[in-house]
Amino acid sequence: MKLTLIKPTIGRKEHSLYKDEGRMEPLMLGVLAALTPADVEVIMYDDRMETIPYDEVTDLVAITVETYTARRAYEIADEYRQRGVKVIIGGIHANLLPDEVMQHADSIFLGDAETLWATMINDARYHKLKPCYTAPVGVGQVTQCGEKILPRRDIYQGKGYLPISLMQFSRGCRFACKFCAVSRYFKRNYYLRQIDEVVREIEQHHSKFIFFIDDNIATDHKALAELCHALIPLKIHWISQASLDVTKKPTLMKLMQQSGCWGNVLGFESINPLSLREAKKSPNIIAFNHYQQEINILRDHGMQTWAAFTLGYDHDTVETIAQTMEFALKNRFAFAAFNILMPYPSTPLYQQLQQERRLLYQAKWWLDPTYRFNQAAFIPNLMTADELTNACHLARSHFNSIPSIIKRFSDLNLTLQSFSRIISFCRYTLLFKKEVYKKHGMRFGLK
Ligand code: SF4
Repeated sequence: MKLTLIKPTIGRKEHSLYKDEGRMEPLMLGVLAALTPADVEVIMYDDRMETIPYDEVTDLVAITVETYTARRAYEIADEYRQRGVKVIIGGIHANLLPDEVMQHADSIFLGDAETLWATMINDARYHKLKPCYTAPVGVGQVTQCGEKILPRRDIYQGKGYLPISLMQFSRGCRFACKFCAVSRYFKRNYYLRQIDEVVREIEQHHSKFIFFIDDNIATDHKALAELCHALIPLKIHWISQASLDVTKKPTLMKLMQQSGCWGNVLGFESINPLSLREAKKSPNIIAFNHYQQEINILRDHGMQTWAAFTLGYDHDTVETIAQTMEFALKNRFAFAAFNILMPYPSTPLYQQLQQERRLLYQAKWWLDPTYRFNQAAFIPNLMTADELTNACHLARSHFNSIPSIIKRFSDLNLTLQSFSRIISFCRYTLLFKKEVYKKHGMRFGLK
């Protein structure tokens, strides 16, 4: 039997194909490959930079889908199904909108793959594929032949991914931000892998620079402290995503620094406390003082700040978006993302905007052929959708301009700490600068 795994791209620019130069290993496909019985041949195609050979013989195609890639995932699924090949689709979007995904697949996979994937593969092998597999959420790693299964990274070879290993320690998050699809999927629960398993994975893979793609690696402070203790002897560098409340724990911050943490993507979301309340961003609201204390603590621990903002709340205006960019620049954040607030399906934000009749693109921006990447998909309160789109693009352009890069680079305490940090800063800054323009206005899907 042969299984083909596919990671879809988002889409393309009007007159050119988009190639994602900042692509990282699709960890979820490495996990699926490892969960597949050993006698099944597994091949992976990454639509972000390679052409999918639809006519190559295969017995089953498995596509992972996010909301941004849904339109393209359906195009790929339809191509295979026209050729009589069975298609199964899983991933976060399948969990958010199973009825929609079902229309493009022979089978859908809901929940975390670990406990049911091998069963599904065997059903497919004997032509007994069921229309839907519902696996429990929160089983991080399963045992096979007395050992926990680790992702199969051999499927990434020759694909030109960035030199950073993706791993996972936890899944889920204890918070409930209104816009967050992760919170909706995990229902505010979180799950941890055994720390010795994480260590085994790092040692086996000889990884020296790791991106823990946890939804919030700081969701359990005690567990994070234990992880840091275990990482210290490995002498690695790592980054992740964390909630800002982690800065309130001095011992934990020290441990993170000692364990090789360079910084985390931190969800600042807004510099306006009213917007933070609107977003139910509880880790940021506690003792809010315009983040000065948090930023100073990050600096004191040698951590670069990679700030993620969401813009378009009911109190936001074109001016407050410009102020957000100035705030990021003034504090010389290493990186900052000025994301438009997106109504992901099934989230509380989506439901609210739907009730208020403020959703654009027939309430399905991810499928609408006129929707373009980085466009507002709802009617903001104090500006038009176009004003929100343009203000965010302006913020991105300004923050990633050469004078801004020089200003941020000259932060002696952080960027110039070591030669490897200088190299990383230059590499990723220039990459992000390029991606800002390459992705903006891209249409979804290739057709
Ligand atoms: S802190 Fe991050 S992961 Fe957790 S609910 Fe909020 S946005 Fe989602």
